[in-house]
Amino acid sequence: MARGRNWGASTKLVHGGIRRSQFGETSEALFLTQGFVYDSAEAAEARFKGEEDGFIYSRYANPTVDMFEQRMCLLEGAEDARATASGMAAVASAIACQVKQGDHIVAARALFGSCRWVVEKLMPKYGVECTLVDGKNLDEWKAAVRPETKVFFFETPTNPTLELVDIKAVADLAHENGATLVIDNVFATPVLQKPLELGADVVCYSATKHIDGQGRCLGGVVLSSKDWIDENLHDYFRHTGPSLSPFNAWVLLKGLETLSLRVRQQTETAGRLADFLSGRKDVTRVLYPGHESHPQHDLASRQMKGGSTLLAFEMAGGKEAAFAFENALDIIAISNNLGDAKSLVTHPATTTHKNLSDEDRAELGISGGLIRLSVGLEDAEDLIGDVEQALDAALKA
Ligand SMILES: *Cc1c(COP(=O)(O)O)cnc(C)c1O
Repeated sequence: MARGRNWGASTKLVHGGIRRSQFGETSEALFLTQGFVYDSAEAAEARFKGEEDGFIYSRYANPTVDMFEQRMCLLEGAEDARATASGMAAVASAIACQVKQGDHIVAARALFGSCRWVVEKLMPKYGVECTLVDGKNLDEWKAAVRPETKVFFFETPTNPTLELVDIKAVADLAHENGATLVIDNVFATPVLQKPLELGADVVCYSATKHIDGQGRCLGGVVLSSKDWIDENLHDYFRHTGPSLSPFNAWVLLKGLETLSLRVRQQTETAGRLADFLSGRKDVTRVLYPGHESHPQHDLASRQMKGGSTLLAFEMAGGKEAAFAFENALDIIAISNNLGDAKSLVTHPATTTHKNLSDEDRAELGISGGLIRLSVGLEDAEDLIGDVEQALDAALKA
């Protein structure tokens, strides 16, 4: 494997995967090119045969995109990766590339909306059925397994209620039944959680979130063993073209340099906000895996290195109070995005989760008073002050 496997995470994030051009540049070079030229017809033939290393076409691979993939592999401890144009391109490719008609998927019910659409609505059109389960409940995973079950899929912590799924326990169950476990690790980030070490087979990211983390571009990545990628994703990826733009790969490489710093700082501030919110009478529930009041705090300590950069809380006054709170915020902006340097707040019931039925929302604990907060890089005192004045304003409204 590549140079740097024994480095610490921060060193990997700064130096991992660098390929310098003949000019010896310090920063990663941006190769905005579609194609590549060959010295001779024989060289082109050799490259197409795979007898000679080198690039062929940027839909398959590109030097800047390759640096991003290699850096992600080092960080995640994966053998191989494919970078994609968005997080959804990563998830949809990781699932679609490995199933065929007649196969079955078991997925946790609490999924990012588009991920849920892929397994619940899209896959059945191609003859791949899906059973949704409560990810926390191992018995439901067990009961859902069929002889034709091919894939297990979930995210942890979940969006927006920050519930956890036990990665190791579900990985063991998947493997006992010959299934592949795919994890969407966006909420935890590669800094706070390492699914491959806990037994997952495939990890997906929306790099749009913490990996860029500065609101600039979309991106995604699928990571796994070399065998899994060769057997499943390699051809699918080449011929369907969900490829990442080299420009966006360059932005994401720069984002990775500061990923660990940002995630650790954002997590620390999120913990302080969770403490503050826990002391408020007008807040009925605080959902933060790093807080000891979280029902799965033990599991959080076992499988995560920190409590997440996101938290959720429920306001006693329901939707009306939640809206009054959001509208009174000064520093924190209303946006459904997350993982950004800027703190962002969203009301899941009327935005990210509005397409679910009332019943589905209730089942997931997404009430009218629920607020999701993505904690940014501002000073903790300023954020606590902003939340406090907005809660007070909502009480008066
Ligand atoms: C944002 C997100 C995605 C999709 O990523 P895009 O880059 O927006 O396509 C998938 N899963 C989770 C958990 C997300 O937060």
